[in-house]
Amino acid sequence: MPERPDLEYVVPRLTEMLVGAKVVGGSVRKPVVLRCAIDEVRGEILGVVRRSHAVNFDFGERHLVISPMLAGRFDVVEGGKKAPGDTAVSFDLADGRRLLYRDDVQMGKVWWTAPGAPVPGLVEGGVDVLSPAFTTEKLRAMAKGRREQLKVFLMDKTAFDAMGNAYADEVLWEAGLHPKRQVSRLTAEELDALHAAIVRTLTSARDTIAARAPPLPEKVRDFLHVRGKKGEPCDRCGTTLRVAGILGHDAYFCPSCQPDAEGKGFVDWRKA
Ligand SMILES: [Zn+2]
Repeated sequence: MPERPDLEYVVPRLTEMLVGAKVVGGSVRKPVVLRCAIDEVRGEILGVVRRSHAVNFDFGERHLVISPMLAGRFDVVEGGKKAPGDTAVSFDLADGRRLLYRDDVQMGKVWWTAPGAPVPGLVEGGVDVLSPAFTTEKLRAMAKGRREQLKVFLMDKTAFDAMGNAYADEVLWEAGLHPKRQVSRLTAEELDALHAAIVRTLTSARDTIAARAPPLPEKVRDFLHVRGKKGEPCDRCGTTLRVAGILGHDAYFCPSCQPDAEGKGFVDWRKA
């Protein structure tokens, strides 16, 4: 799915492009994503915000919430331009442009709902890891009593807003922590390294994507260190990267930089 750094780029761009625009019509190519009647979605877009891993378009009394899940992406095209084949839903704007929701695996969902109403499948409530509220003390408190494995903990959106599969792997590589380590057994030093890694990895990804300024539907991931790189050498030490299965997720990691023994062999890469 688009993860936090992707949405940090996409949401302000959509805001720039769409606030003040009016939706006057729409069409559906892949009805499976639609959780409302397309004819209901009408009116002026007053604002666009990120809501957990979804994008929320404010129409006043109703909101359009699009949860892009694994592969969804957004596009705004001029009137005469043909919509790409992966377009799931297209919204016609009064000025002739169209807002496209594209999704080639059709796992995303489009809702038309009351402002702030719960959206099925949208997990919310985690601490914003890019805000000042996310401190080392906060992370230490959050980790207390958590018996699950690190990767599972990082992807819990009731705890963190937010990390998905890709950035959880990047964060753990950055921190030098094995994805299967048990959270409650991390030392204070390891938790501090984890905190620094979360902030640094997501901030750096956000800034890199902003600097590259890709077209809206394009997801920039070529700067990642471990995700999707099984069998390639680690950027830090040259060891061959591996994949582990964790509760139905896969975790890419470096077996040298991220030792699996509890508390043994941990190296804080900020100080090394
Ligand atoms: Zn390594």
